[in-house]
Amino acid sequence: MSAASRTAQDLERLAVGAGRDLEESSAQDILRWAADTFGRRFCVTSSMEDAVVAHLASRALPGVDVVFLDTGYHFPETIGTRDAVAAVMDVNVITLAPRRTVAEQDAEHGPKLHDRDPDLCCALRKVAPLEEGLRGYDAWATGLRRDESPTRANTPVVGWDTKRQKVKIAPIARWSQQDVEAYVAEHGVLTNPLLMDGYASVGCAPCTRRVLEGEDARSGRWAGLGKTECGIHL
Ligand code: SF4
Repeated sequence: MSAASRTAQDLERLAVGAGRDLEESSAQDILRWAADTFGRRFCVTSSMEDAVVAHLASRALPGVDVVFLDTGYHFPETIGTRDAVAAVMDVNVITLAPRRTVAEQDAEHGPKLHDRDPDLCCALRKVAPLEEGLRGYDAWATGLRRDESPTRANTPVVGWDTKRQKVKIAPIARWSQQDVEAYVAEHGVLTNPLLMDGYASVGCAPCTRRVLEGEDARSGRWAGLGKTECGIHL
C-alpha cells in the first residue's frame, strides 16, 4: 500500500502495532521505522528548546521537515536557535504562524491574553496553526519525555493522535535528561542558549520562567496559572 493511500483506520492500526512492537526500541530505530513507513508524510515538530529529535530524525530521513510554531511571543534566543538549525542541519525547517499577529490579537481580545486566558491564547497561537500545518502528514514526532512531568509519564513511543487522526511518535519518550545531555555532547547538537541560563523548558517568553532547585523541568511554564500543557499534547 502506498503511503498516500492509507486511511485513518490503516494509520491507527499501524500506530497501535508499532506502539507495542517498538516500546523497547532505540530512538534511532523508532525514527528509522517512521522514515521507512511514512517517508515525506512524516515530520518532526520542534519548540527549538534543543534540536535533539530533529538531529535524530535527519539521520533517518535526510532533509526531514521540522515544523516550528512561531507564536510571535518567542524569546530571541529561540528564533536564533531555529535559524541556526535551518542553516547547519540537514532538515527543512517550516515555520507556522497564527492567523493573527500579536497586535491583531490584542485588538480583538485585549492585550496580554496570555495572562487572562492562556488556554485561548494557546488555542489561537499554537493548537490551531499546528492543526493546519500537520494536514499534509500522516505521522509527526515530538520530543516529549516521560520524566518531564507527571502529565507526560505515560507517553507512548508510538501512539494514535485521535484528535488529528495521525500517528504520533515520541522517539525519546524513555530518555532521561542525562540521556539528552549525553546525546547533545556526543553529536554537538544545537541547544537553546536559555538552557544554560536557568531555564529547563523553553516556551513563549510571557509564560516561561527559570526553574528552582528541585522543581520538575516544566514547572517554569505557566507558573501560578494552574496550566501545564499548551493543548498540543492533550
Ligand atoms: Fe500564548 Fe503563553 Fe500559550 Fe504562548 S504559551 S501561546 S504566549 S498562552
